[in-house]
Amino acid sequence: MLLEQALRPGPLGQAIIARDDDVMSTSILPRYPFVMERGEGARVWDVDGHEYIDFAAGIAVNSTGHCHPRVVQAITEQAQKFLHIAGTDYYYDVQVRLAERLAAIAPFGGDEARVFFGNSGAEAVEGAVKLAKWHTKRQNVIAFLGAFHGRTMGALSLNGSKIAQKDGFAPFVPGVYHVPYNNPYRCMHGREQATCEAACYCGDYIEDVLFKRLVPPDSVAAIILEPIQGEGGYVVPDARFVQQLRRLCDEYGILLISDEVQSGVGRTGKWWAIEHFGVEPDIICTAKGIASGMPLGAFIARKHVMNWTPGTHGTTFGGNPISCAAALATLDLIEGEYMENARVQGEYIQDALEEMQTHHPSLKHGRIQGLGLMIGAELVLDADKTPAHELRNAVENYGIQNGLLILGAGFNTLRFCPPLMIERANVQVGLERFEKSLTQAEHDAGLL
Ligand code: PLP
Repeated sequence: MLLEQALRPGPLGQAIIARDDDVMSTSILPRYPFVMERGEGARVWDVDGHEYIDFAAGIAVNSTGHCHPRVVQAITEQAQKFLHIAGTDYYYDVQVRLAERLAAIAPFGGDEARVFFGNSGAEAVEGAVKLAKWHTKRQNVIAFLGAFHGRTMGALSLNGSKIAQKDGFAPFVPGVYHVPYNNPYRCMHGREQATCEAACYCGDYIEDVLFKRLVPPDSVAAIILEPIQGEGGYVVPDARFVQQLRRLCDEYGILLISDEVQSGVGRTGKWWAIEHFGVEPDIICTAKGIASGMPLGAFIARKHVMNWTPGTHGTTFGGNPISCAAALATLDLIEGEYMENARVQGEYIQDALEEMQTHHPSLKHGRIQGLGLMIGAELVLDADKTPAHELRNAVENYGIQNGLLILGAGFNTLRFCPPLMIERANVQVGLERFEKSLTQAEHDAGLL
């Protein structure tokens, strides 16, 4: 319907979408009707020449914006030297330099680090869990309800976010125990928000229930945590919850894996989101924003943890030299300027959203939460927090018509995850387009 009525996409975009519908896997539909032609910074254009502000960054990937000249230069220079040589069989400097750089910024409290490079977030998660099992010689893993760690079988087994991702794919990798994640706005233990805020039960639940009834702690290799739940709805946990997980890990010899595939590499205003909570993990998973859009994933572990023997883990494409070159340029830019920009622009966006709460019914009782440029706005229909799922989807689609790329997360949350370089002027235009889209969707829903 939208395709027929909308001004966007235009005829060129519509033709590509029609061809795509015919040949691409049906698992990835439905998508938003934006057909990319080119991008520059925080703005993109479709094939019909329409311009958009990008509040999505290709799911929090284009950290330095689209086609940053320094990233493009690094890619071009590396491409003129060599494209691939298999970093698990041979050596090359750009991979070592990137590993050194990541080891230097790993939040391991002064412990040295080692790095394994893959191609994606899911692959980083798979490797991190394999390493935790190998290192501890234990079989079980604790993951969280609401979590998203990827689509490969191991990562999928850890997901606790949406049933559509898991339905039809059982049996999963055994030994995964899902437990509630701290979210006072919608406490999974059914507690009142104030009670949950005062004393979260999630950590105690692991000790009092899980460890006593279902799984002995000395059989648990790792707790895998998103320090901000991403796909599950951009939920920022209480620092005490994260700290309690660290204490449990220390007490029972469990490794803490921080899945920073979405939250890492400066997006929250610090290199790693877990640093906001004063907690140091044992393994970090990274991907998405690390190479500005070139495919690259990695997991970084404390040196004494990454002690597996030769042959235990490897990959053909991981640590691709062009991706490594892009990542080095990306890290320079983020360190130099964009991490701070993420903090500053993120605060501005959160303030603007809070101001909108005063006159937008779906935001009024909603949840606005975030760190840096990882911000979620959970839309609800009323004071009972009835999820505004359709309304949220309508905002995304109106966004396309109004020149804004914005993505959902969870069931009824919108995520604001623009490139970390986004300038104030583009933030403002994007917010105007967002508010216009929100107004249209609220109007359709009869809220205005
Ligand atoms: N972990 C987290 C926290 C993610 O947000 C994602 C992707 O959204 C993944 C893992 C999987 O990453 P990829 O899609 O690159 O496999």
